Amino acid sequence: MDFSIPIELAEDAKRFETFARDRLAPHLPEWCRQRELPRAFFRELGQGGWYGFSSADGRLVKRPALREALIAEGFARLSPGAAIAALAHADLGLMGLFLHGARDLQHRYGEAALDGSTVMCLGNTEATAGSDVAGIRMQATPAKAGWTLAGTKSYVTNGAVADLAVITAVTDPDAPRNSRLSMFLVDLRSEGVRRTPLNKQVWVPSDLTRLELRDVFVPEDHLLGARGRGLQQVLAVFSHSRVPIAALSLGTAAGAFDLAVRHARQRAIFGRKVTDFQAKSFEIAELHAAIEAARLMLWKACWKMDAGEDFRGDAALAKYLSVAAATKTAAWAADIFGAASVILEHPVHKFPMDAWAASLGEGTQDVQKLVIFREIMQRYP
Ligand SMILES: Cc1cc2nc3c(=O)[nH]c(=O)nc-3n(C[C@H](O)[C@H](O)[C@H](O)COP(=O)(O)OP(=O)(O)OC[C@H]3O[C@@H](n4cnc5c(N)ncnc54)[C@H](O)[C@@H]3O)c2cc1C
Repeated sequence: MDFSIPIELAEDAKRFETFARDRLAPHLPEWCRQRELPRAFFRELGQGGWYGFSSADGRLVKRPALREALIAEGFARLSPGAAIAALAHADLGLMGLFLHGARDLQHRYGEAALDGSTVMCLGNTEATAGSDVAGIRMQATPAKAGWTLAGTKSYVTNGAVADLAVITAVTDPDAPRNSRLSMFLVDLRSEGVRRTPLNKQVWVPSDLTRLELRDVFVPEDHLLGARGRGLQQVLAVFSHSRVPIAALSLGTAAGAFDLAVRHARQRAIFGRKVTDFQAKSFEIAELHAAIEAARLMLWKACWKMDAGEDFRGDAALAKYLSVAAATKTAAWAADIFGAASVILEHPVHKFPMDAWAASLGEGTQDVQKLVIFREIMQRYP
């Protein structure tokens, strides 16, 4: 078994670190104050080739999952909130187009999304449908040369800025639960789209937006994949995006850990450094173990995905372990900074909130356990 990172991927991760240090870090305080990631930054990410896709012959091509995991971890070490905006664009929106879009649609929209001049999102969650995706109520009604969509998507990352959304809606209300939904590519600049940004404290500066569609027309050729397969298709998007969001959660853990350990080595109390207390040294060892275990699981999931093997159980395990590590580490890291950690501008302040957000996006910890359990049961027919 070879645990080394291919040299070109390690170099890309290093280049991204430099990019993030120069192009993200100096602007972050201002963007967080304004609670907005400028569109120009989506373009910079695209032009740098930092999304998880490239293109060939008009088709989207997935880059190695490990490359994306290394980049997402580095991104989230600095800002999980900026990282999630990039992830929602590439790994939810573009992923829907990549997995389910016809060549023609990929050709038409892929390039602009790849270079970040078109921003994407995915609207699935509704008041009646979060973990239980089949509970979606947004209605798609046949219209001349297409469909009209009506309903509300409750929580959409990038919903305030996106041009295009991958949207699930009911096309076949009388069909069985697993064939009622279809997936659409919706132009959010269309008439009838109403966006309401929601007030949140997690994953700043990304937005979280309610998207209301009031009889929005969608052309027939913007149906993604097959009619009636929307449930399976959106679950496939989540299975894929679970890998980068596990990396984002891992970066949340590692970023908090790094800040706090550096601080603990410097901070003197009772005439000793914080790291000189055995209780703290044990905590550091335990958290490091949790982070390393999560990283190894994540890399295994990446390896399986790139090898074309079934990675779904490993992706759920990676997300589960990364979120568990992030939740524990971020709370510990804030504690190490004492009172300073409650100040909004303090670099550690965001991590506990962002770890909490990571536990919700792309399936809660309970949902990961459901996937893991199903996987285990397959071994006990
Ligand atoms: C910051 C943020 C960004 C988001 N971005 C997007 C986005 O871009 N697009 C989008 O479509 N959605 C987005 N979401 C929504 C997110 O995907 C959902 O919140 C998530 O899937 C959980 O759904 P829910 O909130 O309806 O909770 P529910 O599904 O109602 O879950 C409630 C509780 O029940 C538990 N539970 C659920 N099912 C089971 C079960 N079978 N067994 C045991 N326990 C269970 C859950 O773990 C949870 O504790 C975002 C959410 C947040 C917080």
